[in-house]
Amino acid sequence: MRVEGISKTFDTAAVLHDLSIDVRAGELLGLLGPSGSGKTTLLRIIAGLDAPDRGRILFGDDDATGLAVQERAVGFVFQHYALFKHMSVADNIAYGLNARRRAERPARAEIKRRVGDLLDLIRLSGFGDRYPSQLSGGQRQRVALARALAVEPRVLLLDEPFGALDAQVRKDLRRWLREIHDRTGQTTIFVTHDQDEALELSDRVAVLDRGRLEQVGTPDEVQEHPASAIVMKFLGDHV
Ligand code: ATP
Repeated sequence: MRVEGISKTFDTAAVLHDLSIDVRAGELLGLLGPSGSGKTTLLRIIAGLDAPDRGRILFGDDDATGLAVQERAVGFVFQHYALFKHMSVADNIAYGLNARRRAERPARAEIKRRVGDLLDLIRLSGFGDRYPSQLSGGQRQRVALARALAVEPRVLLLDEPFGALDAQVRKDLRRWLREIHDRTGQTTIFVTHDQDEALELSDRVAVLDRGRLEQVGTPDEVQEHPASAIVMKFLGDHV
């Protein structure tokens, strides 16, 4: 997919400036940058939760810029995008499929099978009938991820999905996300302001600063050949 020339201004503040990124099929792209650099805004625009002032979101030749959230076949997990409390884990995961128009909705047995596969993938087989209140924070985020994957999204968007969890759980989930990614080959963009997390997990890292894309490259490339003083300083702060 391609983010092409995206600009966004809130009130009078320009948040994204003519930003373009090619996201490769199957890659895990880490979007890294200081607080306020525009990471969440960019994900929201890709998801269709916000509209850009200029620019396009392209999936191959399909221009998704004007499409509603449900029509763009993206999956997302935001830190505070909670599960539906009154629905079981299985119903949460099936939500995006059940919400489809009848003609596009898979048969009930197919939905059940897919939910079962996803429960296996997130290692919560047997938890389908539980409710979110009966799960730990880490388990809830895994269910949120399964819900996002259920619709077989063209791109999976993760915004600090583990941000609110404690250090050990966060570390486990990182490893697990990488594993899931390797197994599914799902094209994924994940936002973090944690340099270690981005460098450890990503196939490529995109460094954002004040709404501009400073550099895109493999973790080695951005560390060994930073494209600007800003990238050097931002990554250097952590060494
Ligand atoms: P963080 O790491 O702190 O989440 P971020 O890189 O994700 O930061 P954004 O949340 O995209 O940054 O915000 C970028 C800028 O846009 C900030 O200055 C923020 O105050 C502003 N902003 C974001 N959403 C809105 C909005 N709905 N209305 C007005 N300003 C906004």
